[in-house]
Amino acid sequence: MEFFSTANKSLIKDINTATILQIVRTKGPISRAEISKLTGLNPATVSSNVGSLIENGLVRETGIGASSGGRKPMMIELNPDAYYVIGVDMGTTDVSTGITDLEGRIQHKVTLPFGDRTEPEEILGVIRQSIRDVMAASGLETDRFIGIGMGIHGLVDPDRGISLYAPAFQWEDVPIAEPFSREFGLPVTIDNDARAMALGEKWFGKAAEVGNFVFLNIGTGIGSGIYVNGELIRGAHFGAGEIGHIRVQDTGERCFCGIVGCLSTLASGPAIERQARHDASAGLAPHLLQLAGGEPGRITGELIHQAALQADAYAIRLLDEAGRHIGSALSVIVNLLNPEMVLIGGGVSNGGDFLFDGLKEEAALRSMANNIKKTYIGPAGLGDDCGMIGAAALILRSVFRNPNQYNS
Ligand SMILES: [Zn+2]
Repeated sequence: MEFFSTANKSLIKDINTATILQIVRTKGPISRAEISKLTGLNPATVSSNVGSLIENGLVRETGIGASSGGRKPMMIELNPDAYYVIGVDMGTTDVSTGITDLEGRIQHKVTLPFGDRTEPEEILGVIRQSIRDVMAASGLETDRFIGIGMGIHGLVDPDRGISLYAPAFQWEDVPIAEPFSREFGLPVTIDNDARAMALGEKWFGKAAEVGNFVFLNIGTGIGSGIYVNGELIRGAHFGAGEIGHIRVQDTGERCFCGIVGCLSTLASGPAIERQARHDASAGLAPHLLQLAGGEPGRITGELIHQAALQADAYAIRLLDEAGRHIGSALSVIVNLLNPEMVLIGGGVSNGGDFLFDGLKEEAALRSMANNIKKTYIGPAGLGDDCGMIGAAALILRSVFRNPNQYNS
């Protein structure tokens, strides 16, 4: 009796190939026998699937390994240069676009400023240019690229490839994946920037072995990507993770989201700079003002950090307060989701311990002791490239889930 339909057989082959590729990626160089042992698949199945993977170039034989008795085995490893992916990290003031190999390592990158542009066509034009520039700089043939991943701030519908709302540019419902895919002739996947960064940390950073973690992106805005039981959470309408709009103070500025006292209005990069410029104008930050050449408008996040390193009490207190606001909002997530790890990235995270000490202390004060005491809180693993690597991971994820799509 034919129990499995042809479609099912092909699905089973796809699952087996993906399982084997994942083992080769994480454990390679590895022998066919070892793959068989780790996956429980019989040696003939492993051989045939490894054959397909060698044929489409995703894995390669690397030489003879050590023998555990008997004939020495041929070892197999991922071929990271088989294909390349383009990762676009669209910020609010510029776009950074990188080319990664299959291990998520950046090979080339380009950053272009948006200047005073805000119209969708203008912004998307700068992004297009950054992709053309980085492809040209790489010198790679176009058929070596297998897709473009894009991390975009604000609300994003990854299924339809649409930016639903980008607060920095005040645009709504802008189609992105389809026009880029048409222009470059490649699959394009988009998602919210913080979610893409969380994906990057899961595949290539500190969270590889962790099923429950939160990635906090603290830059010009504050967002997060949340993993629960190994799944990246999107929410019913793609708004999960908006930690920047948790209210942490009863008074203060009204946020663009309509709420007074949002975390974003207190601890984002622009919010910290705004506070420092205001205080410097009022004569409350003399050292910082001096570093800025006497002009409050020239105070930046980097200058604030520099002043803190020089033991300036004002700058130290400013970063500590921002950290405490973040810790306060974070405690809500820690109590709700009990993450194993909280990774913090984005420009503001460069404030280092000046930021992290108060953040951790406040998070601990406000969270259930049992939840917080085992939670690791620290900087993200991928640093400033996290946005590009995360964006590339939107495509790389599909390579590893369905490697047979590259069979000729
Ligand atoms: Zn808000």
